[in-house]
Order: sequence, then structure tokens, then C-alpha cells
Amino acid sequence: MGIAVSPQIHPQVADFIEKPRKMLINGKWVSSISGKTFPTYNPATGEVLAQVAEGDRQDIEEAVKAARKAFDQGPWRRMTASERGRLIWKLADLLEAHTEEFGYLESLDNGKPLAIAKAADVPLAVDLFRYMAGWATKIEGNTIPISVPYTPGAKYLAYTLREPVGVAGQVIPWNFPLLMAAWKLGPALACGCTVVLKPAEQTPLSALRLGELVMEAGFPEGVVNIVPGYGETAGAALAAHPDVDKIAFTGSTEVGKLIVHAATGNLKKVSLELGGKSPNVVYKDADLESAIPGAASAIFFNHGQCCCAGSRLYIEKPVFDRVVEGVADYAKKINVGSGLDPQTEMGPLVSAEQLSRVCGYLESGFSEGATAIAGGHKKGDKGYFVEPTVLVNTREDMKVVQEEIFGPVVTAMPFSDPEEILPRANNSEYGLAAAVWTQDIGKAHRTAEHLRAGTVWINCYNIFDAALPFGGYKQSGWGREMGHDVLNNYTQTKAICTKIA
Ligand code: NAP
Ligand code: MG
Repeated sequence: MGIAVSPQIHPQVADFIEKPRKMLINGKWVSSISGKTFPTYNPATGEVLAQVAEGDRQDIEEAVKAARKAFDQGPWRRMTASERGRLIWKLADLLEAHTEEFGYLESLDNGKPLAIAKAADVPLAVDLFRYMAGWATKIEGNTIPISVPYTPGAKYLAYTLREPVGVAGQVIPWNFPLLMAAWKLGPALACGCTVVLKPAEQTPLSALRLGELVMEAGFPEGVVNIVPGYGETAGAALAAHPDVDKIAFTGSTEVGKLIVHAATGNLKKVSLELGGKSPNVVYKDADLESAIPGAASAIFFNHGQCCCAGSRLYIEKPVFDRVVEGVADYAKKINVGSGLDPQTEMGPLVSAEQLSRVCGYLESGFSEGATAIAGGHKKGDKGYFVEPTVLVNTREDMKVVQEEIFGPVVTAMPFSDPEEILPRANNSEYGLAAAVWTQDIGKAHRTAEHLRAGTVWINCYNIFDAALPFGGYKQSGWGREMGHDVLNNYTQTKAICTKIA
């Protein structure tokens, strides 16, 4: 395999990508039934990084069979909640012990800086597993006093159980490959579901390595199945499969709608974490020392490839010039390069498609009259790099203001009347996240109340925690990831009623 990466590559990672990677079905690593593989690329060079088994409908069939059997007959359902929790905790320990290796894998496959993968992606995934391990023993029903007016004199004992929903299909994107796998696997396993996970075609490697740790931790066969492949084949087959009880999806709103359609066959439960075009509101009384770098990292973190990226920056007029120049300065100083270079602060976009998509948006913005006061172009000839970009002279009706770009591009717009800002901020089909910067605590909370978004950050941005629910209003999704809310995605309630007198 032509591994076009720097010589400092982690030895275990070099071994891992040397051989074609197989898929995990029923506790075994197998080739695809078709025998096909597909390449995953190093986005810093555009060169092939590894070959991966290409799962399609037939492989999904086998994986669902294994997950079904593991759910209906396997030891998994007979395990105590405590045993399940311990396995998830063990997985967290194993992952933590391999932080360095996962950092490399993530950086190579996705392009993000190694230091960030090690400091954010891997520890957040570890913490998520630990948080969910704790939930395994705390998924409780209620005892409910019932009156039943049409059976006077009778007495009942009524209670609810929260039971696992069954076989969960999970389809994830490429922006946080390992973390998205953790967000999906952690709660499903805590609730006692079995899983078929399809990682993104661009970034399957960390999920496959995680699958090895799942088996090392001692999960019974068939509980976790991982089938890499394309969305149109493997993903669509999983979403439509009649033996899958629940589908959890993270990705674009467009594909989210396809998932909903595919799920109608057996009315499987659906949860969706979709796109965003998040407003970031800076009032004139904000502490600009923190608001300026805060607004910059709100968009530039992970190269803007965040569903919650602060991509619409609204700045109150008296401080507009100062903030916008500050953010542009920040953008110009960002060191863009290969994720493995220790100097790098921003890596390449994930793929050639994503690069052309982002460049297409830049052209569309310029043709509609926007101007770039930082960046505005593709960077270099090799790899999928784009300059951190700040666009001004934009209007609400422009595509760059309305549509999710999913790249390091922010539109900065002034507002003069604090009353006008809320309808503008809410003028989006999305409602994933929003932020407000002000030192007036009353104004901060009034603004937060009126923003139609699943997350509102005040004087901060991109703060995530396993305990804090995350998900979208409007077309940004159904249901929540993380926190105790996510348990609703993987459990169903059974009411049990006994006549006792
Ligand atoms: P996408 O198509 O929504 O991909 C997300 C996942 O869904 C991938 O695993 C994909 O498989 C799979 N998929 C695609 N079509 C499917 C189908 N018909 N049935 C079932 N699964 C299917 O996203 P993308 O194409 O990678 O990126 C396009 C845009 O989506 C981005 O520019 C961004 O705006 C948005 N996006 C949002 C998020 C988020 O976190 N909300 C994440 C990524 C992208 P493949 O691996 O074959 O694509
Ligand atoms: Mg890749």
C-alpha cells in the first residue's frame, strides 16, 4: 500500500493501514461478500491511505442477522446492567490507553491536526463511554399510582420498564469519525441494544480499530457489528432493513430525509442529528477580548466541518469593524497544513468533494457580491486545503448565508437594533446551535430564550460534554445525543399493570 505520510507515523497505525481492513460481523473480521474494497485517502496529500472492505446490501444482511441473534438469543440480554456497564468502561480504558494511536488514525484519515485529535476527539470519546457506562445501571422505570375509575374498589400495582429498543442501525459522518462512533455506540450499548454501525466512507479507519477494542473488551459476538461502505448501498440497506428496530443517523439534512423515507417500511424508530447554520450574536457590550477569538474558533474549529459551526456571525454595529477585523486577523494567522505537522492549526478538508463544494460556495458568494477580508481561496495544489475565510457585504438571501457550507467560511453581518437580531438569527431552516456574547446577564438569557436552537452558548462556543444533550430544533434533527436524553433514542417504555385486590 502506498502510504504517503510522514516518516514519523505511529508504528501501530502503519501496521493497521498496511493490510486491507475487514469488517466486523458476528465477532469476526470478514471480507465483503462481493470481495470489493474501496480506498480511503489522506486528505493532506490526496493519496490512498488504506483499502477497506466495501460492505453493501448483502453484508448488511449478515450484520443485521448477527445483531438480531445477539439481541434475541445471545448472552447480552441475560447480562446484568452492571456487567454491561463494566464492559463499556473497559472499552473506555482500552481506548484511553491507545490515545496516541487513535490520534494518528484520526489525523491521517480525516486531516485534523494530531494534537487536536489527541486532546479533544479521543478524550471526549473516552469520557462519553465512561458516562454511558454509568447509565447502564440507572435506566429506571417508575411505579405509577393508577385510579382506573371504571373498576371501583379494585387495586393495582402499576410500573414501567425501560427496555432496549432492539437492533440499532447507526450511520455516521466523517467530521469526528471516532467521536461520532462513540456518541452512537455508547448509549445503544448502555441501554442493551445490539448495533450495526456504518462509518463514513471517507473515514472508516478509527471505527474499525475501535471494533478491535470492542472485541478485546469482551463484548459478546454480534453485539457490535461494523460495516464500512457507501451510503447509497450499505447505509440505505441498513435504514430500510425490516429487522432493524431503530436507525440513528448523523449527517446532512438531505440524507436525513432519505433515512426517514427508508424507515417507513417497518416504521423503525428514527433519531437524526443533521445540519446547521448557527448564528453567533456579538452585542456591543461583549467582552471583545474573548468574543473575537471565540467567534473565530466557533467557525474555524475542525476546519468549519462542524454541524454546529458558528457560520453566521452577527455583530452589533458600533463594534462591527473591530470584531470583524479581529476575526479576519485570527483567520490570517492560522497555520494551515498537514495534520501530522506539529505547527499545524488547521488541516485540509476531508475530501476532494468537500473542497470543491466549499470552493463552489465561495464563488457563489463572490458572484452575489460578497467580499473576503481574509482567505477566499483554495490553498496549494496538493491535498484539500482551503483558506480560513471571512466574508463581508453579504445579505440574508445569499446562498452563503442560508446554506450549510461545512468549511472554514464565516459570513459577518452588522445589526443596529437588538430587537431586529432575533428574527434574523432565527431566519434559517436549521436550529442546531447558537451563541450570544454580552456582559449583560439578563440580555444574554433573554436572547438564549428566544433563539430557536437545541444548544445556546453564552460567552463561549463549542463546549461539549457527555452529560449535556445535543441536537436540533427545526430541520436540524429529531431527538438528542448525549446526556440522559439520548437514552430515549434506544429504549422503549413498557407499562405493566397487576391487579392486587
Ligand atoms: P452525508 O451524505 O449526509 O453522509 C453522512 C452519512 O450518511 C455517511 O455515512 C454516508 O455514507 C451516509 N449516507 C449517504 N447517503 C445515504 C443514504 N441514502 N442512506 C443511508 N446513508 C447514507 O454527508 P456528506 O455527503 O458526507 O456531506 C455532505 C454535507 O452534509 C456536508 O457538506 C455537510 O453540509 C453535511 N454534513 C453534516 C454533518 C453533521 O454532523 N450534521 C456531518 C457531515 C456532513 P457515505 O460515507 O457513502 O457518504
Ligand atoms: Mg480519509
